[in-house]
Amino acid sequence: MNTPFKGKVNLHTHTHSCRHGSGNIADYMVWAEREKFDVLGFSEHVPLPGGLLQTTRIRLENLPFLWKDLDEAAKNYPGIKLLRALEGEYIPELMSFQKELKESQKLDYMIASNHYIWENGRNKQFPGESDPAALKVIVEQSIKLMESGLGIFFAHPDLFFAYGCPWTADSKAASKEIIEAAKALHVPLEINAYGIRKQPITASDGQIRKRYPIRQFWELAAEIGGIEVVCSSDAHTPSALWRAVPEIMAWAAELNLPVINERLAGEILAK
Ligand SMILES: [Zn+2]
Ligand SMILES: [Zn+2]
Repeated sequence: MNTPFKGKVNLHTHTHSCRHGSGNIADYMVWAEREKFDVLGFSEHVPLPGGLLQTTRIRLENLPFLWKDLDEAAKNYPGIKLLRALEGEYIPELMSFQKELKESQKLDYMIASNHYIWENGRNKQFPGESDPAALKVIVEQSIKLMESGLGIFFAHPDLFFAYGCPWTADSKAASKEIIEAAKALHVPLEINAYGIRKQPITASDGQIRKRYPIRQFWELAAEIGGIEVVCSSDAHTPSALWRAVPEIMAWAAELNLPVINERLAGEILAK
């Protein structure tokens, strides 16, 4: 594929400002230069009104400081294109709030993620079992998130396996619905390296595995076909900027899933 970039492209990155990461933008730039990056997108978890999830989100009033750091880094490292982004999620009553941030914060793009099940304005952890009722809600919310057009890709669509839900007929069927919706809606899916860097878990079927990504999910995506993938670091600390990304890139190559990091970055920069 013809792309304008020779170096690395990562569109999913967090700093200490999200309150569960470390390092600032200047710290990241040392690694980005060392690792020969061409494009780096900073994508803090979106700030939410009323202090919702505030312990794991950047505060709205801190965004200007983040963008100031970003502008300064752009001046200091003219060879690396830096992008302004936020990582939003499907919260039924807060979709327009998040979409407005795209304009008011002059974002280059947003990422769409689901980190929870949302019920009556409250967040619930993903299930520890292959629970058909929970899986049904996860599928609905994943599809609504993709339909909303909030993000340019759906990050870690297999994150709902992270708390012990095993690969079963039900969780496979849920995965299939999500993948088929992504295909129909032309939403790229992200293979996320952060889960590879985390400690493994024991799923409820006794299997010890990485929390995510889930290999069977991506095999299914390959089987269904017509899916494009973004391979992201989802770094929460500068030294992890490219760690485990080669492993997920290898998955994509083995499964013949086209990786579109460069193309997406090119489209964003062309705007
Ligand atoms: Zn995070
Ligand atoms: Zn993230």
